[in-house]
Amino acid sequence: MRICQFNDHRFGIVERGTVRDVTSALAALPSQRYPFPCSDIFIAALPALRESLNAAAAQATPQPLTQARLLSPVANPGKIVAAPVNYQKHLDEARTDAALHHNNTGHQQEIRRTGLFLKAPSSIIGPSQPVVIRHPDRRTDHEVELAAVIGRPCKAVSRDQALSYVAGYCIGLDITIRGPEERSFRKSLDTYTVLGPWLVTADELPDPSGLDLAIDVNGEARQRANTRDLILGVPELIELASSFYTLLPGDVLLTGTPEGVAPIRPGDVMHACIQGIGEMTVQVRPA
Ligand code: MN
Repeated sequence: MRICQFNDHRFGIVERGTVRDVTSALAALPSQRYPFPCSDIFIAALPALRESLNAAAAQATPQPLTQARLLSPVANPGKIVAAPVNYQKHLDEARTDAALHHNNTGHQQEIRRTGLFLKAPSSIIGPSQPVVIRHPDRRTDHEVELAAVIGRPCKAVSRDQALSYVAGYCIGLDITIRGPEERSFRKSLDTYTVLGPWLVTADELPDPSGLDLAIDVNGEARQRANTRDLILGVPELIELASSFYTLLPGDVLLTGTPEGVAPIRPGDVMHACIQGIGEMTVQVRPA
């Protein structure tokens, strides 16, 4: 199942270039009162909602996907857990290029030594919303990454069990200012996490370990890789992350970017795709 959020937070099922509005199925979600949970109640309810989502889709008129304004497929993740340099060739380029490592030894070390980092959920946008370059004087790069969305609470799970906690996958763009500051400072600006184009549920993508991923900017090839080259794959990342944080429904795991990171500027158009998920086009705008 491919689930999107579109227009004014409508929910849709995507199929062959069309979207069917299934928002009516969300009436079954529990009504919330303050304080709200630190997790996404739609993702948490997804297994229970599947039947009614399918029933609503069968009733809905398919609309052309090209007319839908796609939002992030996860509205309220409690946290975004992200992997720093997690492809060997990106580690190699980060070690040799001062514009990438800024003499920060933490940017030149293997992920098992560096650990993971967090991005602010307030940085999330969907593909129909532009990335807004906040500091045009600073080098700002694209990073295309496989994003896994956690489906149920998990704490200290082993890599053997880890994939059973994944609700689904989407494309992630981890937009990054290069520089000496903490990653959380340079990567959590508004609009600097793009998730889309939709959530592909894990039953459709049982093995995330051999997926081609790519990003072009203005039609020029920038990053080309395959998730088989991840140093820590999705199961190992969930094992590591859940040994430090309890992962909750809707939490997003950005698995790290391959070699080929390069600058984006206002006016650029990014086109990203991941095998088995789909593709998305994202505009870059001035502040
Ligand atoms: Mn990244």
